[in-house]
Amino acid sequence: MNTVYLDNNATSCVAPEVIAVMEPFFRELWGNPSSMHLFGGQVRHDLEKARAQVAALIGADPSEIIFTSCGTESDNTAIRGTVDAAGGAMNVITSRVEHPAVLVTCRYLAEHGHRVFEIGVDAAGQLGLVQLGEALREGPAVVSIMWANNETGVIFPIEEIGEMVHAAGGVFHTDAVQAVGKLPIDVKQMPIDLLSLSGHKLHAPKGIGALYVRKGTRFQPFMLGGHQEDNRRAGTENVPYIVGLGKACELALQHRDAEMTSVAALRDRLQAGLLATCPDTRVNGDTKNRLPNTLNISFEYIEGEGILMHLSDLGIAASSGSACTSGSLEPSHVLRAMGVPFTAVHGSVRFSLSRYTTAEEIDYTLKQVPGVVNKLRAMSPFVPKRT
Ligand code: PLP
Repeated sequence: MNTVYLDNNATSCVAPEVIAVMEPFFRELWGNPSSMHLFGGQVRHDLEKARAQVAALIGADPSEIIFTSCGTESDNTAIRGTVDAAGGAMNVITSRVEHPAVLVTCRYLAEHGHRVFEIGVDAAGQLGLVQLGEALREGPAVVSIMWANNETGVIFPIEEIGEMVHAAGGVFHTDAVQAVGKLPIDVKQMPIDLLSLSGHKLHAPKGIGALYVRKGTRFQPFMLGGHQEDNRRAGTENVPYIVGLGKACELALQHRDAEMTSVAALRDRLQAGLLATCPDTRVNGDTKNRLPNTLNISFEYIEGEGILMHLSDLGIAASSGSACTSGSLEPSHVLRAMGVPFTAVHGSVRFSLSRYTTAEEIDYTLKQVPGVVNKLRAMSPFVPKRT
């Protein structure tokens, strides 16, 4: 059976080049980078090389990169670390369509004496900038707004948002977990104070992430204990995974521009093909400002989960929302915030491609989806009777 992996926003395969550079760090190079002896010295250099590779992908200085265990830890650290550093009750601003790593953290802060504003989005999934401006007028704030949405791929105007935040005297964090490696990012040129990224979205393993903290940003470490990461994140560094993340960032920098066009062309072919062959189908989110690899599409009157199960039997892997929420049958909070009608929210499927996706895989998917959709609609009580 063909297998086609179109769920790269949930996680991506580990690049063979990444596995190759990691391997020696499980065999010979297992020293602790904090050790003064030769075993430590052997790996410290590679740790710093990886830091420079991560920094290069986003235009940062290596000293501004802190390694973490995942995107979720980076988000928690950024938000709680800047709120703690401010001291006392703070205003915290985020959006209604963030990943739970940000939303749940902000809601936790709301329960602990901080004032939290959740900014809405329009029907295309774009942030309400007027509402953001109003919230910023309420006083100095820590603001966490994602660069690109994991479910729809919608890209927010990060530069404009950062300028608004800075003009109001706030601190700006962006969850760029879905953007890094897919879009050009240069933090030196952007009004961004903190930025989160995660290895497993860009062909490094799961369980490794990084946080960019601009020099001079007031920030309190979240993980307390040892002196690692220049006193900014306690815990012995996960050297093999850090080295892997460094290599994945180097590869992303090499391939990114070409991928932005080739992956987008395959995504567009998938989108056009599905719209042409499946009636009562709509694309969710702003298609002009969208990640090149993401397509969120609703097949009205049927359940996304049903589509996914049938596709899985045919060897095709996609998703009906973010990986974290797909275990529950709760409709997507992102699509609901956009006001997508009930029948379309339930029938939504996210296809997310990568540089490993081929034209043959897209053609195979285009061949299989209409049959699945027709079969499910034939059984659905929600399909309107047409005269
Ligand atoms: N932020 C966004 C936008 C994501 O898509 C994800 C993962 O799906 C995360 C944060 C969490 O990253 P991690 O799985 O590395 O904790």
